[in-house]
Amino acid sequence: MRYAVIGTGIVGRTLAGRLDELGHQVVVGTRDPAATLARTEPDVYGNPPFAEWAATRPGVGLAAFADAAAAADAVVNASAGASSLAALDAAGADHLAGKLLIDVANPLDFSAGMPPVLDPVNTDSLGEQIQRAFPRARVVKALNTMNCSVMADPTLVPGPHTVFLCGDDEIAKKETAALLASFGWPPEAMMDLGDISNARGTEQLLPLWIRVWGRLGHWRFNFHVQQAGSDPVAGT
Ligand code: NAP
Repeated sequence: MRYAVIGTGIVGRTLAGRLDELGHQVVVGTRDPAATLARTEPDVYGNPPFAEWAATRPGVGLAAFADAAAAADAVVNASAGASSLAALDAAGADHLAGKLLIDVANPLDFSAGMPPVLDPVNTDSLGEQIQRAFPRARVVKALNTMNCSVMADPTLVPGPHTVFLCGDDEIAKKETAALLASFGWPPEAMMDLGDISNARGTEQLLPLWIRVWGRLGHWRFNFHVQQAGSDPVAGT
């Protein structure tokens, strides 16, 4: 498959790297490829400049959002949540039409400092905003409730743990589940919550995730839904 990964941060890099490892053709999308490659300072989270990472992944391309999306069969949104609509708008509605769009972003608002708050929240979600803004895209919200290394390699957290999916398109969710399986997620770990409005729930796990991270001092953990009885939680 040809994937566009919209986002040059640690999440975009981690997922692009994993997709590349699995044999997919991957292009990372950015606002200005030359400017992104010219960066020499670590990003705000302390990650090395993009070019340093790109040198370790010669098979992964870098292109403007629109060029990355145009060439792809499927798209991953790994842009800053507050800018995801702008990034996807730049990618182009026509380039997203009919395609699986896996949204892993969280609408975190850092304007008042740490911890961030969510915007939108409660009565709306970023996942829904994206589906409304790009009605021809087949949006699946997934993987946003854990650190990106865990997204790409669930074995980093021992024992059973859960990955949530939601979206309006049943086939898109099956395609996402197949991709997650290729990342190493067992079927019983996948919980399909239903339509895209359920992104309100998964995005609202983030304030808790951030506090657990603060308590543990590391990101190698995940949430797990444990239910009575022996039925798996999977709904996909
Ligand atoms: P990030 O720093 O949140 O986002 C970087 C990307 O956003 C870059 O590609 C950047 O474009 C783009 N961007 C920033 N401002 C923009 C604007 N005004 N217009 C268009 N695009 C803009 O990256 P991240 O830390 O990798 O996180 C990506 C997403 O994953 C976020 O939504 C985050 O909440 C979510 N998430 C993160 C984790 C994690 O493990 N860190 C886990 C779950 C979910 P350029 O390339 O042009 O700079």
